[in-house]
Amino acid sequence: MPTLKPLDVVDIDKIQADFPILSREIKPGTRVTYLDSTATTQKPLQVINAMDDYYRKSNANIHRGIHYLAEEATALYEDARARIAKFINSPSAKQVIFTRNTTESINLVAQTWGRKNLQSGDLIILTEMEHHSNLVPWQMLASELDLRLEFVPVDDAGLLDLEAYHQLLKQEPKLAAFTHMSNVLGTITPAEQMTANAQAAGARVLIDGAQSVPHFSVDIQALGADFLVFSGHKMCGPTGVGVLYGQKELLEEMPPFLGGGDMIKKVELRTFQANTIPHKFEAGTPAIAEAIGLGAAVDYLLEIGMDEIAAQEQVVVNYAIERLSEVPGITIYGPEGKERGGVTSFNMEGVHAHDVAQILDGDGIA
Ligand code: PLP
Repeated sequence: MPTLKPLDVVDIDKIQADFPILSREIKPGTRVTYLDSTATTQKPLQVINAMDDYYRKSNANIHRGIHYLAEEATALYEDARARIAKFINSPSAKQVIFTRNTTESINLVAQTWGRKNLQSGDLIILTEMEHHSNLVPWQMLASELDLRLEFVPVDDAGLLDLEAYHQLLKQEPKLAAFTHMSNVLGTITPAEQMTANAQAAGARVLIDGAQSVPHFSVDIQALGADFLVFSGHKMCGPTGVGVLYGQKELLEEMPPFLGGGDMIKKVELRTFQANTIPHKFEAGTPAIAEAIGLGAAVDYLLEIGMDEIAAQEQVVVNYAIERLSEVPGITIYGPEGKERGGVTSFNMEGVHAHDVAQILDGDGIA
């Protein structure tokens, strides 16, 4: 029987010890085997401690108080933003907007950039492998503004039909919005090439990085996309914080999303002047501890190394596919080789997916 061998470059025992939840027994003698990281990852002590420290030592509101704690909290929050900007190689921390999650980041773009720049008959290109969060916001906008939505098909190997994409680009879309890595099939899309093609056709590009940013090195300047969105909770960070990266000129032109405190530079009874970026898009008291936790998560991932994480995930996913293939009646979906990230989905003939999940759960497997 083949065994799962971690790469020499990653210290699995040390990493496992960082995650307290992994030593939990789901029932006597059965430790949890957590295979549900596309939904949300577990959190290492480094992230839990950063948030705990903030609440124990530095808790205050940010950007408003003139006192020691307020200034310390503001510095911690802004420092987290700077580290996240560096993580994705954003030219400036001002281009990193804190949101609640990927979903909110996409809705922000739809409701601000979309409403301002799109009109009846305009085309948005999506793909058939999008998460609901990169589908429904565009459906909502399309029905409001009478836009057209077209979808790049997925072939039997789990890859995007790029010929169909090129044909759609000839229709001069205003936006192409697509995932960098599918949460269902694990497909890693050729995002850099697709971005260049769309921009050459005059479209703006939004990349859903919810599954890519956590799992391999993503350089937004190399990708060249106009917008990149992702969630903290899928990259060892806390829930309640996500990111919208945008091209500076676009963010500056976009109207605010939500109105309230912090997003204004000047306000009178009947008018307001919007703040500069990133604050223009961060109305109200943000998720301060969560942003700080996400900064700690980025440090944590970098300490292991994004290339090392990606390489180890290849080892694990190839092992999973090899062993699953030994089970009679199993069909595995998604592409092979380098075009697949650390995800595998499968169907077991004659057994409902719900039952498979419940039986695995009986052995502590999430
Ligand atoms: N996009 C992809 C590819 C995802 O996998 C997910 C979540 O599973 C999302 C978007 C939505 O993320 P969130 O629920 O954090 O907004």
